[in-house]
Amino acid sequence: NPELKKHTFEAEVAQLLHLVTHSLYSNADIFVRELVSNASDACDKLRFEATNDDSLYEDDGELKIRIAVDEDAKTITFTDNGIGMNETDAIENLGTIAKSGTKAFLDKLSESQKQDGQLIGQFGVGFYSGFIVADTISVESRKAGEPADKGVRWVSDGTGSFTVEPITKDTRGTAITLHLKEEYSEGEDNYLDRSKIKRLVNKYSDHISLPIQMRKEIWQEDVVDDENDDTPTGGEMVLTDEWETINKASALWTRSSSEIDDDEYVDFYKNITYDMDAPLTWTHNRVEGRVQYTQLLYIPKKAPMDLYTREQQHGLKLYVKRVFIMDDAEQLLPMYLRFVKGVIDSADLPLNVSRELLQESRDVKSIRDGNARRILTLLASLANSEDSDKQEKFAQFYAEFGDVIKEGLGEDAGNKERIAKLLRYATSTQDGLETSFEDYKARMKEGQKAIYYLTADNLAAAKNSPQLELFKKKGIEVILMTSRVDEWAMNFLTSFDETPLQNIAKGAVDLGDLQDEAEKAEAEKAEETLKPVVDKLKTALGERAKDVKVSTRLVDSPACLVVGEGELSPQMIQMLQQMGQ
Ligand code: ADP
Ligand code: MG
Repeated sequence: NPELKKHTFEAEVAQLLHLVTHSLYSNADIFVRELVSNASDACDKLRFEATNDDSLYEDDGELKIRIAVDEDAKTITFTDNGIGMNETDAIENLGTIAKSGTKAFLDKLSESQKQDGQLIGQFGVGFYSGFIVADTISVESRKAGEPADKGVRWVSDGTGSFTVEPITKDTRGTAITLHLKEEYSEGEDNYLDRSKIKRLVNKYSDHISLPIQMRKEIWQEDVVDDENDDTPTGGEMVLTDEWETINKASALWTRSSSEIDDDEYVDFYKNITYDMDAPLTWTHNRVEGRVQYTQLLYIPKKAPMDLYTREQQHGLKLYVKRVFIMDDAEQLLPMYLRFVKGVIDSADLPLNVSRELLQESRDVKSIRDGNARRILTLLASLANSEDSDKQEKFAQFYAEFGDVIKEGLGEDAGNKERIAKLLRYATSTQDGLETSFEDYKARMKEGQKAIYYLTADNLAAAKNSPQLELFKKKGIEVILMTSRVDEWAMNFLTSFDETPLQNIAKGAVDLGDLQDEAEKAEAEKAEETLKPVVDKLKTALGERAKDVKVSTRLVDSPACLVVGEGELSPQMIQMLQQMGQ
């Protein structure tokens, strides 16, 4: 064909393809999920476009996905009547990596040298996963609303290049044909086995809200009756021309939670997240109020590797009346809950809602507040539970995400109290990350008027801090905060349940009633006798110290550095430097 054009893959695609074919063989199954999800996305896109232009349906409004196996040709074909692609689309979408996340992921991979399937599987390689099992993939497509002769055929063997050529295709949408490699068309990993494909669709794609169809098979008894053979009459499965729907095609979140079992919730989670692990916990509710919506929110077991990078994709999947609108709708959650995954289905938002519109919408703000409250309530119920399983879950949660929710003290003033109740620390008397402000208060000494805390780089440094000496001597417990965000976060929390919080490394420490009269008198006397020493130190240090004072806070150490009230501590300065400020 003179119109056949050869293109080379973008460098990143070639790199990804190499990884896919060399590292993903243990995750071969995922290509089914990926291709079905692309077909479903394509149908969602069409439905979305068609809300403004009905003619795009071209009298074929029943969106569906079909999977056909051809044993002789050793192919499996995924067909959809979704939005379709023209030549430009195919070159762009199947020849380059548009997603910035994919690039970041590739960098991570080469950095860590941990090119195992688990990691890659978590991430999802989309269309290219087809090359795990296929040595050639051929895509035939025609875009909705364009003439039949504007179709395209895209073919590649998944190494350096692909070809495109124009074709005539009467039906709108895309057909993707995988020519299976030898090892995937026989034996245990035989994807020509229809029941295997069915199982995979049920496992991964049950919630897809479109019918996924395969040819119907029927059992046909042997008609030939051999008189000399007395073994029972056999038979075989025979393919018919009829198509049958093999998935439940019901969006899980639209069902009532009492009818959904845990396995279904877990499968759905894996389905929408690429996480191989089950989630830690979830909450599923129909919210009725000023805004009506369904929320299905999951907390993962493990933090993603990019939790702290700026480009991190976060947010929830947004549907409007079961029509998919967008992935990663970040407006639906505050930043400090960016690890939460799930689905929001709203009855009130317009179908053509854009990210910009979401930002301004009062309804969206109300959904976001509702989601934040729900997650905080869920976490509180784990934290306060008598059930050891739930306590264990909370500890697991806290180890992974404790630092992230601390950001909420600054971000979400309205929920500050709720967040503060979830925080857990080590203290001068308890090593584990398990003391809450409530626990601390319950153990406070008679006459103690503040919650004392200290920030440091790590537990050992905190425990050896000279600032602790006086507190140790007096038997006063001090909370030891050792995470990077603590000091910043504590700027936003000055009291807990009406008890002031005091950083013992900052300004003057007032022990109030815990300091007796004799000590006070002694301190005053010391101040007088030491005045010449202090003056000498002041002159010697000059500009480098703001002030030099006689203090009662030390027991064994001769001197310590103190940060003035409202000033940045060394840890804080270090953190800001690390963040590039
Ligand atoms: P993603 O789905 O995350 O965008 P994929 O690698 O799975 O990434 O797919 C790449 C792109 O190829 C899609 O974004 C889409 O534009 C296009 N594409 C893939 N499959 C289809 C399809 N069945 N119909 C239309 N476009 C498709
Ligand atoms: Mg995809």
